[in-house]
Amino acid sequence: MRFAHLDYAASAPCVRAAADAVQDLIPWCGSVHRGTGIRSRTSTRAYERARERVATFVGARPADAVVFTRNTTDALNLLARALPDGTTTIVFDTEHHANLLPWPRQLRLPCPETPDEAVAAVERALATVRGPALVAVTAASNVTGEIWPVRRIADVAHAHGARVAVDAAQLAPHSPVLLTDLGVDYLAFSGHKLYAPFGAGVLAGRSDWLDAAPPYLSGGGASAAVGDQPGDVTWTTGPARHEGGTPNLLGAAALGAVCAALHRADRAALQAREQELLARLRDGLTTIPGAVEVTAFRGAAPRVGIVSLALPGHDPARIATHLADRYGIGVRAGQFCAHPLTRRLIAGQATTPCGDGTPGLLRVSFGLGTRDDDVDRLVSALGALISTRS
Ligand code: PMP
Repeated sequence: MRFAHLDYAASAPCVRAAADAVQDLIPWCGSVHRGTGIRSRTSTRAYERARERVATFVGARPADAVVFTRNTTDALNLLARALPDGTTTIVFDTEHHANLLPWPRQLRLPCPETPDEAVAAVERALATVRGPALVAVTAASNVTGEIWPVRRIADVAHAHGARVAVDAAQLAPHSPVLLTDLGVDYLAFSGHKLYAPFGAGVLAGRSDWLDAAPPYLSGGGASAAVGDQPGDVTWTTGPARHEGGTPNLLGAAALGAVCAALHRADRAALQAREQELLARLRDGLTTIPGAVEVTAFRGAAPRVGIVSLALPGHDPARIATHLADRYGIGVRAGQFCAHPLTRRLIAGQATTPCGDGTPGLLRVSFGLGTRDDDVDRLVSALGALISTRS
């Protein structure tokens, strides 16, 4: 039986472009930025080419930096450490923990009921902030798939002299994420959610705060000149300042290759196909007794191919295990590293906790390899499990 991977929101399978990029580079792997031999030069070229490809993918402006990180968590932590002193970060409590926990001095807003309310809440919060401000917001929720009004939030933020950082971990695999179109200052995303699971991620955006900040990792590569006394260091500027140590060449090359492939692809057609799958799934779910699709916003909002379900009377973790063991379907159950949001979505639903006693939802998510029959199999398997009681 074909394994139906319906957990793209966690990690997406490696695509050919990423695998080929890695395969092609393996014979040439050498030290990036640190040698004159052919391996070193080839590796340096490949690494910087990957950076250019990512820059094109995010529509980087001339003064933007593209820094390779390990993942989105790493990228947002890097930005959090680069904030000018006294910066207040405005976040909604709906964020993934990666975009909720790193900010040192934060103003946390409750989940808004609508996208309009999200924009208004940011505006009200900004009016109370003195000093530098950053709004850190997700582009698409990893729990509900709902797309946040990033462009409008950015307009409001900029009118107040604030900056905007976007957690694009879930939007980048589904839709173009151009800094200019979104109108934002920073974007973070992960290679493993973008079909390039080799341990690289990205922080892209304005270089001034990054160049003024202490290096994320002190060491070789980040330092331009080191004197004899402790602390006698001149740090480099540009991406190297925050990429101390030997970088993840294969991860960057794989991610760069996927960015280039997606940039060339007909993304409108891919999005239309994904919306068809989403409609098929939501149609099918209406036949599952008691299943409730959860959303943060009241009313329909545009969304990517992610659906989370409350399954009253059923332990979602057990359902997920049965889906895998009996039907060859991979989904995820739990709180998806967004505990405050998941708790809110579950409140009022008669859900059964996961086996470990924590509340949870069942999440289904799509990507490029998802087929109609994967969705149909999930719906009929869920129907069978729910009616037989697990
Ligand atoms: N933000 C969102 C919206 C996510 O879905 C995830 C991953 N679940 C992250 C951040 C963190 O990504 P990573 O684990 O790759 O750092």
